[in-house]
Amino acid sequence: MKIAVLPGDGIGPEIVAQAVKVLHALNLDLTLEEAPIGGAGYEAAGDPLPEATLQLAKEADAVLLGAVGDWKYDSLPRDKRPERGLLRIRKELNLFANLRPALLYPELAAASTLKPEVVSGLDIMIVRELTGDIYFGQPRGISTLENGEREGINTMRYSESEIRRIGRVAFDIAMKRNKKVCSVDKANVLETTELWRQVMIELAKDYPEVELSHMYVDNAAMQLIRAPKQFDVMVTGNIFGDILSDEASMLTGSIGMLPSASLDANNKGMYEPSHGSAPDIAGKNIANPLATILSVAMMLRYTFNDEVSAVRVENAVKKALAQGYRTADIYTEGSQKVSCSDMGDAVVAALSL
Ligand code: NAD
Repeated sequence: MKIAVLPGDGIGPEIVAQAVKVLHALNLDLTLEEAPIGGAGYEAAGDPLPEATLQLAKEADAVLLGAVGDWKYDSLPRDKRPERGLLRIRKELNLFANLRPALLYPELAAASTLKPEVVSGLDIMIVRELTGDIYFGQPRGISTLENGEREGINTMRYSESEIRRIGRVAFDIAMKRNKKVCSVDKANVLETTELWRQVMIELAKDYPEVELSHMYVDNAAMQLIRAPKQFDVMVTGNIFGDILSDEASMLTGSIGMLPSASLDANNKGMYEPSHGSAPDIAGKNIANPLATILSVAMMLRYTFNDEVSAVRVENAVKKALAQGYRTADIYTEGSQKVSCSDMGDAVVAALSL
């Protein structure tokens, strides 16, 4: 099994190094090969997704990605910016299903800005469609109207088959969890999501054990803060999922804790933390590597079908937290503040406890 390791920019290399350390400590039969992406790709080959990186990612069984982006690239033409590399690799690998768990470890209940009784025991899986919607729909662009005024256009569109395949992912995951799917749309205003709702209702007939509910996105944003434990699996389109999954991440105290998986139809996947490249703390060895380490656990579970190793990694993270180790973003009084690499070492040590 081959893993393409793409550290990217900002804190990417620091956090990926910790995840790689954990992978090595598992002693599995894996080959790891590294390549640049994002700003690092632009520096190395003038392209945020260099051809060689894309080839490596296509050949590999799974991709481990850090993060991309830095403000210093903001003035580059749009197609050279780091984020383009990320959007393109998702599209090229056909990674249409983004899984973002929001799980609150009991030790971190105090790190959330919400009351502990609202969030303790929280365990949500957000399933976000990743290759369609307004982020990719045509026509798009900025043009000048006849009266000289500029106009910006983006197009929200989803085909029935795109909705059905992401819906299936959500229902299948729900079958392994608490058998509840909440489909998030804006069917009262947007026809695209009216179709979304219809397709979800049709699909639900194949999953009689799963309870399907629907919620408008504005209400979902509110309910995530008001009573987040009502949710099991949430499924939604690209733009709504982008926003709701970031919101859900805050329920857990830090975006530094949240892994993600992006899967194709054959469970080949790209695994990355939900956060960005955090240029404000890059190079200081203070970033939280746990989201990236937990992304490795998702890789073991979803691509390599190795539940035993996945649980080993997740338990090691729990043990490191139970021992009181905290990076700065999740630090609370009485715990022990550690660096990014110290946290990686603590998880490796906890693997053999
Ligand atoms: P960000 O997620 O990088 O950072 C937001 C805040 O969270 C910052 O204060 C940061 O220090 C903190 N943070 C993030 N990850 C952390 C970690 N592991 N440990 C501790 N603190 C952490 O979002 P941003 O600041 O809006 O974006 C910065 C850059 O990242 C931009 O160039 C953006 O385009 C890019 N970005 C990339 C991705 C990705 O690669 N998937 C996602 C979002 C943003």
